[in-house]
Amino acid sequence: MSLIQPARIPFDDPQIVAARTDLVAALRAFLPAESVLEKQEEVRPYECDGLSAYRQLPLLVVLPRTVEEVQRILRLCSERKVPVVARGAGTGLSGGALPLGDGLLLSLARFNRILDLDPVARTARVQPGVRNLAISEAAKPHGLYYAPDPSSQIACTIGGNIAENSGGVHCLKYGLTVHNLLSVTFVTMDGELIELGSEALDSPGFDLLALYIGSEGMLGVTVEVTVKLLPVPERAQALLAAYDDVEKAGQAVGDIIAAGIIPAGLEMMDGPAIQAAEDFVHAGYPTEAAALLICELDGTNQEVSEQVMQVRDLLLESGATEVRTSRDDAERLRFWQGRKSAFPAVGRISPDYYCMDGTIPRRALPEVLRRTAELSKEYGLRVANVFHAGDGNMHPLILFDANEPGELERTEELGGRILELCVEVGGTITGEHGVGIEKINQMCVQFSPEELRQFHAVKEAFDPDGLLNPGKGIPTPRRCSEYRELPTPRAHHAHH
Ligand SMILES: Cc1cc2nc3c(=O)[nH]c(=O)nc-3n(C[C@H](O)[C@H](O)[C@H](O)COP(=O)(O)OP(=O)(O)OC[C@H]3O[C@@H](n4cnc5c(N)ncnc54)[C@H](O)[C@@H]3O)c2cc1C
Repeated sequence: MSLIQPARIPFDDPQIVAARTDLVAALRAFLPAESVLEKQEEVRPYECDGLSAYRQLPLLVVLPRTVEEVQRILRLCSERKVPVVARGAGTGLSGGALPLGDGLLLSLARFNRILDLDPVARTARVQPGVRNLAISEAAKPHGLYYAPDPSSQIACTIGGNIAENSGGVHCLKYGLTVHNLLSVTFVTMDGELIELGSEALDSPGFDLLALYIGSEGMLGVTVEVTVKLLPVPERAQALLAAYDDVEKAGQAVGDIIAAGIIPAGLEMMDGPAIQAAEDFVHAGYPTEAAALLICELDGTNQEVSEQVMQVRDLLLESGATEVRTSRDDAERLRFWQGRKSAFPAVGRISPDYYCMDGTIPRRALPEVLRRTAELSKEYGLRVANVFHAGDGNMHPLILFDANEPGELERTEELGGRILELCVEVGGTITGEHGVGIEKINQMCVQFSPEELRQFHAVKEAFDPDGLLNPGKGIPTPRRCSEYRELPTPRAHHAHH
């Protein structure tokens, strides 16, 4: 079986680059002039996504308006063997939308319409460039909302959410993107239009919809989506608990879930993150605490009242030094304000930060927090922890200064060690940000060569020439053997 090409980044195919003018002419034959960007200053805004340590100017940027245009663009690129990278809002944190120097960047920004909202069926049919939050805003007058809520929801698009199988605070109770979609229509690299899923609960055949979700723009270009909407709960209330010890807070998370309660959000911040958030938004957080838990409960009035009492008792029993319960919605939102702005808050206290994303079994939380702190000392780099504790989805933020020689490299190595620690305790190298180019080496630690071969085979079935987002997501066997030979303690071949 032939495998897809190794990472092209940063290699450019000179033949494709030389034929650029010809490609522009072929695209302009069916696209209006403003839909094809080729000048350096026009394509510069697309040179990176949220993983801004990696930058690459694309060969061209195209901004189609219709599904037919997407089909024609992909067909043309397929014939000429030009690689294509799809892009939503470019908020991705793993370099998934990083352009290729010999590739076309396909922006879905103009696909920004909500096509239909059915309050009776509780569904919305939307274009892929619609912002995550815009769906809930449109559904609000009907008492409905779209549950997955990435912290970037004001900007990120549903097309990007599907590619990354994005999550958020609410996903502990309501599931990730994969649990909240009914159907997806996408265009294959050779221009065919395919619809996956249905309006019914199940559909016959292989569950290709689940396979497509989280495929990081490597199997097709999403052009239409039907999402499920949920009724806005009657009541939501939040508790905020302070701890003098991170491990106790980690333990409390397990205690709440073990008691049979599924909160609508269960998030944790450690000392450095609390301090940074408080300095930034003044949410009233107890800054002397070593850890903070925020637990939101939603449902009917009665359910919420009972669970708030129960959780309060559990938090106190687990050693919380202080527990506050929100008295009204304004206070509940204030509890969340610091958590939701934690990334930019950390950005203020360090020249640069690098956000990791690994998932671990909840029982391993105390151990992983302790060992992360040890690694932070070993590398001499500060780490602030902000994360979806209920899901065991960690977001260690490594603080560094890219202007200090060697610090970015040390940061990446520390990040890699933290991810491999997640695998060692039975977890995974990504919770919601995807693999992209960022975690491609750790895929060699997470999966065996045989398993990776199956991933390549799936990719090849959808995209035989390997033209859609090549070099991302799945490492080549060669890359893995090179990585395993690195003289660091990292490559333990810890297949699950
Ligand atoms: C401050 C901040 C907070 C964040 N918080 C969260 C969080 O809480 N939870 C979370 O899950 N993520 C979070 N993210 C990461 C990011 O917002 C998500 O991964 C998001 O889903 C990316 O959407 P996007 O539209 O920006 O996609 P992009 O970054 O443009 O693209 C992401 C990937 O999707 C592919 N893609 C985009 N559109 C399409 C399409 N139409 N068809 C096929 N492939 C496509 C791209 O090729 C790329 O591989 C955060 C990011 C930031 C900057």
